[in-house]
Amino acid sequence: MTVTEAVIDLAAFDANVRHLAATVAPAELMVVVKADAYGHGALETALRAARSGATRLGTLDIPTALAIRAAGVGPDVTIFAWQYPPNQDFRAAVAARIDLGVSRVDELRAMAAVADGVPARLHLKIDTGLQRNGATTAEWPVLVAEARRLQAEGSVRAHGIWTHIAEASDDEDSLSIMRFRDAIAVADQLGVHFAVRHLAASSAGFRREDARFDMVRMGGHCWGIPSFDGVTPLQMGLRPVMTLVTEVDAVRHTADGAVEVELPLGYADGIPPAAAGLVHVAVGGRQYPVVSVAVDSMVLRADAPVRVGDRATLFGTGDDGEQTVRQWGDLIGTLGDEIVTRIAPSVPRRYVG
Ligand SMILES: *Cc1c(COP(=O)(O)O)cnc(C)c1O
Repeated sequence: MTVTEAVIDLAAFDANVRHLAATVAPAELMVVVKADAYGHGALETALRAARSGATRLGTLDIPTALAIRAAGVGPDVTIFAWQYPPNQDFRAAVAARIDLGVSRVDELRAMAAVADGVPARLHLKIDTGLQRNGATTAEWPVLVAEARRLQAEGSVRAHGIWTHIAEASDDEDSLSIMRFRDAIAVADQLGVHFAVRHLAASSAGFRREDARFDMVRMGGHCWGIPSFDGVTPLQMGLRPVMTLVTEVDAVRHTADGAVEVELPLGYADGIPPAAAGLVHVAVGGRQYPVVSVAVDSMVLRADAPVRVGDRATLFGTGDDGEQTVRQWGDLIGTLGDEIVTRIAPSVPRRYVG
């Protein structure tokens, strides 16, 4: 039986979270476990983070937030959800004390309507340039005024203000920060004062003190994947959390004297087809180029002896001579975040550390 697994190093995750929390302090760190924690397992990583003292988790969706609560993470840990299908019923989320992002007056009213004696705790979202469903500058005073009215009634608490920024250029981000400050000022004038202001994710949160406000929401960096070009995880004080390993399935000698090594992982498992010709896989501490990726297998070209059953490391920390997922992303022209997120659920996760 071939051993294929994504090894998730929770000790490395813990160390990343501690390092990032110290970096953004006195702002707070929210650990973003959306998309099944970018393929690392939302429940497992959220439980570990909470056990290690993290007090803020971001899930994106309500079902994941509820699953984390149900697994025993109590209301002393903030769990924030912000994306919903149309006509979402907010009752279970409000009852479970999930913090909710809100951009629209109809959503705000739906949240208020299900408050059960304790106000629904909300984070009002302003669009600051990304145009990903925050309130526009025109809608903002209307949203804030409605939140103030419902807050006076006792059905909601306007706890936070937030936005999401592109983190693609410093100038754009600076503009977003200015617009964010304007939105805070408008709310202040309307008599709504937010306890928690948050704007930045991994990239701006790590680099820019002026982007941190009260909290930074980080995904990628928690998994040890740098968001900056040409920077290794180590240079940032981070360790990659996922190591993808398998075993050599077959070795063939081709007519031209080369050795082809077949691995039982392909694009059905989430290996990007575009990896062919661009990335390397480590076997026995040596790197061999990937020459093709098929649906359930891939082929390397080797110039040294490789045996069936040898352990192959696709990406990981670099400790066994393998590339990191950040390097894979750079070589393939995508984000390391995207690669780990797409590793299929059928690939078993094994938790260590
Ligand atoms: C995904 C996401 C984050 C985390 O982004 P990273 O770049 O992975 O740190 C933060 N905030 C929101 C709203 C997100 O959707």
